[in-house]
Amino acid sequence: MIVYCATSNPGKLREFQKAAPDFGVRALPIKVPPPGESGDTFEANAAEKALAYGQHTPEYLFADDSGLEVDALGGAPGVYSARYAGENATDADNNALLLDRLQGIQARTARFVCVIALVRGGRLVKTFRGTVEGRIIELPRGPEGFGYDPLFFCDAVGCTFGEASIEQKMQVSHRARALDQMFTYLRNSVSI
Ligand code: IMP
Repeated sequence: MIVYCATSNPGKLREFQKAAPDFGVRALPIKVPPPGESGDTFEANAAEKALAYGQHTPEYLFADDSGLEVDALGGAPGVYSARYAGENATDADNNALLLDRLQGIQARTARFVCVIALVRGGRLVKTFRGTVEGRIIELPRGPEGFGYDPLFFCDAVGCTFGEASIEQKMQVSHRARALDQMFTYLRNSVSI
């Protein structure tokens, strides 16, 4: 069974494809601009993206909204993770701002959150939420992954996600956990 994945983020797509054991996860060729993320929850934004992209196929399609919640910052950057340092911010800009905001703060616990919205035939089927706990270190470490990975130390793998291989990251990550739930749902609800 093919499940289409709608994302313009190559880092996310690599992880989604890696984690799909029995399913063909295929990138939906996206020729339309990404929909705005106007919601203030990961669920609302994931559904908005999946419903917008879902108009382009009658098949199952999913999109995710994900981000980093830092406890000492009241959950920021949260749904604003991609544009924390501004609309066209790069990962480096966002990481620099995060370190700046955490200067002098000792309590640096944080989590990544991923919400996947699954749609079919233009209708929302279900959303799935995965999280992984960690803490923000003082200096970036590691060339792997994307986004805030080099700053996110995860005890479950014993290093930052920037130092972890994609296989290690996908053993524990928010994205893998949300995907697992979606695949379980599909296995139980659809004959494949
Ligand atoms: P969006 O889901 O496209 O709105 O953006 C998610 C943003 O959250 C990314 O651009 C990253 O900055 C951050 N993010 C989400 N998941 C991860 C991850 O697995 N590693 C590092 N950063 C992430």
